Amino acid sequence: MSDTSVSCDLVSFQEQAIGFIEANCSKRGGGGGQIVGDGVTEARAFQSALATAGLAGLTYPAEFGGAGLTKEHQEAFDEISTAWHLPNQALAISHGMCLPMLNQFGTDTQRSTFMPDNISGRTIWCQMFSEPGAGSDVAGLSTRAIRDGDQWVLNGQKVWTSGAHYSDYGIVIARTDPNVPKHQGLSMFIVDVADPAIDVRPLRQISGAEGFNEVFFTDLHIPVDWLLGDLNQGWSLALAMLMFERVSIGTGAGALAGEWQSQRLINLAEQLDQTQDPCVRQGLADLWIRERIKVFVGKRIRDAVSAGKVPGPEGSIAKLNGALLARSIRDVSMQLLGPAGQAWEPEGGTGEQWSNFCLAAAAASIAGGTDEVQRNIIGERVLGLPREPNPFKDVAWEQVPRN
Ligand SMILES: Cc1cc2nc3c(=O)[nH]c(=O)nc-3n(C[C@H](O)[C@H](O)[C@H](O)COP(=O)(O)OP(=O)(O)OC[C@H]3O[C@@H](n4cnc5c(N)ncnc54)[C@H](O)[C@@H]3O)c2cc1C
Repeated sequence: MSDTSVSCDLVSFQEQAIGFIEANCSKRGGGGGQIVGDGVTEARAFQSALATAGLAGLTYPAEFGGAGLTKEHQEAFDEISTAWHLPNQALAISHGMCLPMLNQFGTDTQRSTFMPDNISGRTIWCQMFSEPGAGSDVAGLSTRAIRDGDQWVLNGQKVWTSGAHYSDYGIVIARTDPNVPKHQGLSMFIVDVADPAIDVRPLRQISGAEGFNEVFFTDLHIPVDWLLGDLNQGWSLALAMLMFERVSIGTGAGALAGEWQSQRLINLAEQLDQTQDPCVRQGLADLWIRERIKVFVGKRIRDAVSAGKVPGPEGSIAKLNGALLARSIRDVSMQLLGPAGQAWEPEGGTGEQWSNFCLAAAAASIAGGTDEVQRNIIGERVLGLPREPNPFKDVAWEQVPRN
């Protein structure tokens, strides 16, 4: 809960937001194309200050640690912060995906227990969906939860779990009934990542950073009231969370291709004296237009979310657009820099990180569902094309052949 009350009057609110951002953030434009390191300490401190100023969790209910304001306040804050670097990227999953899930599907006890600390950055949350045998087809997952008295006992393995190594809690999806078709026997749980029954093993990426993990569960005991949503209704919650994820990656804090990148590349072209090159000009104009479109798609989706709707397939459009944008930024930056684009800055350096961005750009086409999967969703649910054949649609999960 905040110590300071923030004005509901939009003009006064904007003044307070500008004052806070000027005092706590740096202008966009410096630094490089990607955050270096995980920025966790910085993110926790920033979020704590934001909460103290009454500016955290703007649209969430005050009784659950939010500011209880409107989507207009959120939009005003987003607009103001566009020109600034907010050091909160380590909270992208915690706030972009886990927090809306707790708010939408949590019981009042879960909301009052977990949301205030999540909003203030005191706790960080991660998403535990993907497994070695279940990524695009996450409903095929094998992690099992079996009821034992007033607890659930969880066994299995997750992979690609971003930020698990610095998270306090996770939202995990597991199979609670293997005797029904795969989408019907899943449930979602809250888990305490510090529990010794959870083994988190970081994976090293091509850039040298460690952003995601393998996570092993061995007889993890979960209290029954940490079930999120209804038993065996995990798939509909998973769909909601995947949509929040796609929106976050495509439009929000989870976006690799943040809105400021075209301006940063325009600055780079000026520094390199390449602004008269017609190919460079075309590339930059194309990026700028795509970033504008991303903002409009994002606004439309945020409006739907503020109106209490779970985002639909438009989340896939935003996600795909964000992934294509990341690749365009990569290509234009490498075109501008030429061979110097390969220059490598050690982790923690303060210079341009376009080489790092170049390596990371492909991840935007995989994380949160691959480009191919987004195109399938858009084809089926927006364009009305025939659905992919599924010979195992009505077959119990246990009977489906798998490796
Ligand atoms: C940077 C990063 C962070 C991530 N963070 C998390 C996280 O925090 N939590 C989490 O749970 N997961 C996370 N993931 C995992 C991510 O959700 C999966 O990688 C993604 O869903 C793809 O699954 P997969 O890797 O198993 O690929 P697969 O599903 O094995 O796909 C392999 C290839 O087959 C294609 N393919 C699969 N099915 C179809 C189909 N039906 N039609 C057409 N083509 C198809 C895919 O497009 C892909 O090219 C992260 C991934 C990345 C890259």
